[in-house]
Amino acid sequence: MHELSIVESLIEQVEKEVVGSGHEGRILRLDLIVGRLSGANADSIRFAFELLSRETPLAGAELRISEPRAVCCCEDCFARREIDELVAFCPECGSGRISFQGGQELLLESIELED
Ligand SMILES: [Zn+2]
Repeated sequence: MHELSIVESLIEQVEKEVVGSGHEGRILRLDLIVGRLSGANADSIRFAFELLSRETPLAGAELRISEPRAVCCCEDCFARREIDELVAFCPECGSGRISFQGGQELLLESIELED
């Protein structure tokens, strides 16, 4: 599962930032942005996080995931439509000359620590 390696590096990143900074309190929450077109599935990320965060300082932390949608932009009819999944053709006119904006983010937005 692709998400396992994503979560693995996420945990590494958080440990480096939090533990490396000398903070000793618990990690309460992580906010993630997982775009609809990022190729990663939010449920799988949650599952992988449960699995991999045991035995780490992240165990028990809440995982908040936002899943921004993407916009499909057509070069022929100039339609801009929000989409949940990758499409091959413009939803308005069927043209293949389309590009996408947003929805591909896969990043850690913030870490909330116990005081
Ligand atoms: Zn179009």
